[in-house]
Amino acid sequence: MVYDVVIIGGGPAGLAAGLYAARAKMETLIIEKDAFGGQIVTTDDVENYPGSIHEPTGPSLIQRMVEQAEAFGAKKISDAIVEVDFSQKIKVVKGKDGEYKAKSIIIATGAVPRLIGCPGEKELTGRGVSYCATCDAAFFEELEVFVMGGGDSAVEEAIYLTKFARKVTVIHRRDELRAAKSIQEKAFKNPKISFMWDTVITEVKGDGILESFIIKNVKTGEEKELFPDEDDGAFGIFVFVGTLPATELFDGLIEMDNGYIITDDNMKTNIPGVFAAGDNRVKSLRQVVTATADGAIAAVQAEKYIDENFEE
Ligand code: NAP
Repeated sequence: MVYDVVIIGGGPAGLAAGLYAARAKMETLIIEKDAFGGQIVTTDDVENYPGSIHEPTGPSLIQRMVEQAEAFGAKKISDAIVEVDFSQKIKVVKGKDGEYKAKSIIIATGAVPRLIGCPGEKELTGRGVSYCATCDAAFFEELEVFVMGGGDSAVEEAIYLTKFARKVTVIHRRDELRAAKSIQEKAFKNPKISFMWDTVITEVKGDGILESFIIKNVKTGEEKELFPDEDDGAFGIFVFVGTLPATELFDGLIEMDNGYIITDDNMKTNIPGVFAAGDNRVKSLRQVVTATADGAIAAVQAEKYIDENFEE
C-alpha cells in the first residue's frame, strides 16, 4: 500500500499533522518508536498550551491528541525507522518491523535530552541519573535530589520534584536562570528548593547505583564531591540541560543547520514531498503550540504537493 502521507514521529507535531492529514481524507500513517507524545509526556505541567489550563498534564493532552487524530482515520503504528529512501517519487521508510511507502513524508522526530557529557553519566542513567521527573520522581520520595540546568525544563521539573523529594537543589552554570520569570518566581518561593550558582557537574560515580558526584565552581575552579545524607543512603540527579534534534537518520540526505532541519515557512525541506515539523527544525521557539502549528502546515502542504504531483 502507498500512503498519501507517512509521518515519522508521534509527538505534538506528528499528531497535529496526522489530524490535519486524515481530516483532509488522506491515507495517513503515524509511526512512533517509543510511546506516543514525545518530550511533553515527561512533564506534569503544561501551562502555556492554549486551552490546557484545566487539563494541564502532558500525558492527558497527548492522549486527547492521539484520540482526535485516530477519530479522523489516521493510523498509528509502533516501529523504529532505521533507513529512508527519498530518491524516488514514492518515498520508502524502513523500520525494524516493516517497510512503508508514501507519496509524501512529514518528519516530526522532535528532540532528545542533551546529556551532561561527564564520566559515569551513561553508566548511571536510570540508576540515580534521570532525564524525566514525571517518570522517576517517585523513586526519590523523601530523599534529596539535584537538578542540573537553568531553563524552563530544569526549573519547572525542580518544582514538580518537590512533591516527592525532601530537598531539591538546582545546579546552574551561571548566576542567573534562563527560565521564564513566572516559573522562576514559583521556584524562589518554594522552601524546598535551593540553588547552587556558577556550578557544573563534572563526574558522577557509583558501582551500579549513584553514590556520589563531583561539582565544580566555574568561577573559582573549586571542586567538591557530594555524597548522600547518611540517613538517606541515596540521592538523585535530574538533568535538564536542553535538547538535541533527533535527526541523525537524515544526515547527508536533507539540508540541516547544526542538526536542525532547514525548512521554509511551509515546512518544505530541500526534497520535494518531504516536510519537517516541530522541534527538529530550525526555528526560534520550540513549544507544543509551535510544534502543532508546524504539523498542521506540513499536512496542508503535503496535500497540496500530492494534488500537484500525482494524478487521481
Ligand atoms: P534550554 O532552554 O535550552 O535550557 C537549557 C539549560 O541548560 C540552560 O539553563 C543552559 O544554561 C543549561 N545548559 C546547557 N548546556 C549545558 C551544559 N553543557 N552544562 C551545564 N548547563 C548547561 O532547554 P529547556 O529548559 O529544556 O527548554 C527547551 C525549550 O522548551 C525552550 O524553548 C523552553 O522555553 C521550552 N520549554 C517550555 C516550557 C514551558 O513554557 N512551560 C517548559 C519546558 C521547556 P545557560 O542558561 O547558561 O545557557
